[in-house]
Amino acid sequence: MTMTQPFDGHALSPETTAFLARDMRLLIDGERVEGCAFHETRDPATGLVIARFHIGGKAQIDSAVAAARRAFEGPWSRMAAAERTAILQRLARIMEANATLLTELDIIDNGMPRFIAGLTTANCVEMVDYYAGAILRIEGTTTTPPRHVSAEADALTYTLREPVGVVGQIVPWNVPLSTAILKLAPALAAGCTVVIKPSEETPLSLLALADMFSEAGFPAGVVNIVNGFGADAGQTLAEHPDVDKISFTGSTATGRRIVTAALGNLKKVSLELGGKSPVIVMPDADLALAVPGVAMATFFLQGQNCMAGTRIFAHEAIHDALMEGLTQFAAGMTMGHGLNPATMQGPLISEAHCAKVMGHIEAAKAAGARLVTGGEKLARAGNFVQPTIFTDCAPDMAIMREEIFGPVMAVQKVSTTDIDELARLANDTPYGLSGSVWTRDMAFAHRLVKRVRSGQVSINCHGAVGTNIPFGGYGQSGWGREFGQEGLDAYLETKAVTARL
Ligand code: NDP
Repeated sequence: MTMTQPFDGHALSPETTAFLARDMRLLIDGERVEGCAFHETRDPATGLVIARFHIGGKAQIDSAVAAARRAFEGPWSRMAAAERTAILQRLARIMEANATLLTELDIIDNGMPRFIAGLTTANCVEMVDYYAGAILRIEGTTTTPPRHVSAEADALTYTLREPVGVVGQIVPWNVPLSTAILKLAPALAAGCTVVIKPSEETPLSLLALADMFSEAGFPAGVVNIVNGFGADAGQTLAEHPDVDKISFTGSTATGRRIVTAALGNLKKVSLELGGKSPVIVMPDADLALAVPGVAMATFFLQGQNCMAGTRIFAHEAIHDALMEGLTQFAAGMTMGHGLNPATMQGPLISEAHCAKVMGHIEAAKAAGARLVTGGEKLARAGNFVQPTIFTDCAPDMAIMREEIFGPVMAVQKVSTTDIDELARLANDTPYGLSGSVWTRDMAFAHRLVKRVRSGQVSINCHGAVGTNIPFGGYGQSGWGREFGQEGLDAYLETKAVTARL
């Protein structure tokens, strides 16, 4: 019997090896402090422990929030905009210089393939630069003063955009660095201070980032990182009476708990939640484009992706050709450790999550869906599930309704080209995060896109996120938008000022 090798025998860079040997402490008030207990993180490709890290509870969240409040009242919200810009730009350069470390940490902690981790690190650097530049574009307006003031004297009315205050951010494990940076960068640009809680499954890249904040020149307390369990540290942060806003990415069920926890002081809430996004493939679709596009709509990040297009409505005219193409594509997806540059499909995050995904696969078989390809857990160490495709799915099957968060595609054959009927099928879900339409007929595509109730719909591509493109959900996929100008607005209040002159 062969023993499982750490990282399947792949070498790490010297900087990552050195980082893993460190004492992984929390970041509170500019200091690396101990927590109240320890937790371990495992490489999901091998199941082996990679690091032990400190976790915090109520006491650590309380002191982090107090530090964030002091930094907010003190240096950060009063700092000249140009200075805040320069600090964020320095952070971007430091992240760029440490790209190998950040990329490798997300690979070994989360399991994502290198081609994705490299891309997300580069996107994170771009995101920090983008919001650094946006600071100088935080603008109010001038408007007409109210009648009762201007009737008596000259008057002036204008608006100021001001930071919301102390922000709690709770992030998941599926794209650890990216989900953290897309919350941190706009919050810091707006002048907010932050307490961020990573997922206990994937603490490493944010812990590496902790050093970079100090090096870039952020004053103590502006960013505080408290690892900890959701039900303890997360819940305390969401309930905290001195937190002005909470921003959460994760499951819809936990999103509901966040909303309830936020009620006490009516803090502002942004939510980026789950999805079950539709993918509509029309008879005239270019299959050379649609086959890889539809496959990756589901299988990107092993399907552990809120934008995943996992409900496929395939027109009967192309259904069989599409199934054949998708089966070949799935067979060609090299599975393995994310550190191997050839890997296209890594492991799922944990044994428990893997068992949940396999449960969905078994339930789909029992419900009468037809397995086209995949459906097995690999007989090796780690949490590897084959890219899996079911067809002959009915709209009421769990596989067509629930977010599986694994490499599982559900296909329903359709015979209609009627826009209303297709929109009704696409919208038959409580979610509304992403979606795509595959056709050569652009007029048809744009008409259909207008009927799909979702925060993002793409034509002949899927999941087209970008630093400058607003992203968020309709329905139970969330509240508010991240990325772009709307991502910054989410951390700003508007104050109206009227002066009688
Ligand atoms: P959760 O939504 O439970 O976790 C996301 C984050 O919230 C983690 O940091 C978690 O902490 C924290 N959290 C959990 N409970 C609370 C709470 N009561 N108060 C405050 N914070 C809390 O996702 P899971 O990891 O449990 O994954 C379950 C399912 O969620 C997946 O199968 C998938 O369907 C969906 N999901 C969706 C994501 C998305 O991007 N939309 C991302 C991740 C998951 P911790 O886990 O450290 O205890």
